Parts: sequence; C-alpha cells; structure tokens
Amino acid sequence: MKYECHGHLMADGVSYQAAVERHRAAPDEGFVRAALGELRSWGIGYFRDGGDKYGVSRFTKTLAAEYAIDYRTPVFIIHREGYYGHLYGRAYRDMREARGLIADAKTMGADFVKITVSGMLDFDTDGSVLYDAIGRDEIHELVNIAEGEGFRVMAHCNGAENIKNALEAGIASLEHGYWIDKEGVEMLRDTGTVWVPTCAPVKNVLSEGRYPEKTMRRILAHHAEMLSYAGKTGALVASGSDSGAYGVPHGRGTGDEYAYLHELGIDMAGANEKIARLFVRG
Ligand SMILES: [Zn+2]
Repeated sequence: MKYECHGHLMADGVSYQAAVERHRAAPDEGFVRAALGELRSWGIGYFRDGGDKYGVSRFTKTLAAEYAIDYRTPVFIIHREGYYGHLYGRAYRDMREARGLIADAKTMGADFVKITVSGMLDFDTDGSVLYDAIGRDEIHELVNIAEGEGFRVMAHCNGAENIKNALEAGIASLEHGYWIDKEGVEMLRDTGTVWVPTCAPVKNVLSEGRYPEKTMRRILAHHAEMLSYAGKTGALVASGSDSGAYGVPHGRGTGDEYAYLHELGIDMAGANEKIARLFVRG
C-alpha cells in the first residue's frame, strides 16, 4: 500500500480557483468520491490532508472508509492573520484566538493541527520565501497548546532559519522544507521530526513554461542535494506529493513522488508509518 502524507483532496491538480467554486456552497460529493476512487486505484491506503476552509476534508473523512483509505485531516489550517494561509484556513491575532481555533478543530473532529510558519516560494522570480514567518516562541506556544489537546503539529515551512526555528519548537512534521540547509537536516535527524519534501509540485511543472525553468531547476537541485544528505544521515523522509496541487493529480501524483524519492535512494517506509502512527489525536 502507498502513503500520501501531504495532499489536498478538495483540489484537482489543475485549478485551485475552480476547486473553490466547486465546493463553495457545500462539498461536492461526486468529486470527492471520484478522487477517493482514483486514490484507491493507485493503491493508496493512507492519505493525510493539509486541510481546507470549505469543509471538504472533514466531509471526505466520513466517506474514506468505504474506499479502504485511512484518511486524516486537521479540518482547517491555522495561521497568523496577515501571514500565509488565508486561502486554506482560519486566522488568529493572538494566542487566545489560536487556542480557540485549536479547540474548534478538535470539536470538528481534527486528527492533528496544521500550522503555517512561512509562505511558499516565489516561483515567478528567484524562488525566495514569500511572506513573513512566525518566530520560534510563537511556534513553540502553538505546539504546546496543540499537544495539550492531544494533537501533533504538521508545519508548512520554508527557508533555512524558519525551519530551524520550527524544529526547535517541537513540530512533528516539516512540510515542503524548501531551502533547508545541512544543519537543518541534522536537526531533523536529532529530533526525529519527519520531513515531507513535496517534490512533485516543482518537478512536475519544471519545463512546461508556467514558471522560469532556471528558478525551478535551482530550487530542485538544492532540494535533491539536501534529500540525499537526509538519506545518508538517517533523517526521516516521508512521501507526500501535495496531491491536488497544480500539476499533481490525485493518484498519479503520489506515484510521481515515490519515483522521485526512490531516484534519490530514499527509503520512506519507516517515516510513512511514523506519520500514520503519530498524526492521530492521542
Ligand atoms: Zn500542500
């Protein structure tokens, strides 16, 4: 069986805007069932969603067992107001509000907490990290609140310093992790935090002309180098394709991510199992 440790079931691999329109009034059951069926046909038995603000992942959880998929969701993403994440989740302005959001997610049946530490990369220019990032103390507070409610924290984070802050603060999985450095990889190994590098959304669109190919190749070359180092040093790397993101259709995307990580000589088995074991409310 294959593991998809980072996906967005509500999206379709083509247009996020179209996905939003499709589910805006209510989750589209036909779409959700078709996506679950596609995942099943690719042998995917585990799917960890990154969350959405339209209730699609929460709804999907009620159907996934029919497709023999262990499906886990944070329900929605939690982010600081004005920082990255408004397309996918709910914002807090202070820690009292953050605590309220985590309590809401719990009431709604969340399996874990998903936070955004930093933005995505600027693919249009030089690949640098977009948006401000929250600092180590704030991440640590979020982790403490989440753990107090029995949750592990899945953290969307890019940029070498942001990643080290998040690892020091006690996140359980690092999502994307673009521009990680060697020291960050060593911290992954020492903390046992699982890295979900989501190569597919970059590698799958490399030469199609949507973004400057030179930028995409630079990002990917650095990522591949750090992933090889992770494999060598014994840091845990799991397979998560960002399934549903542009260029990453459900099912095939997971297969693509497996192929990329295998090419780099990475064995994901232990890391995938660790994710499936940890990201359940304790
Ligand atoms: Zn994602």
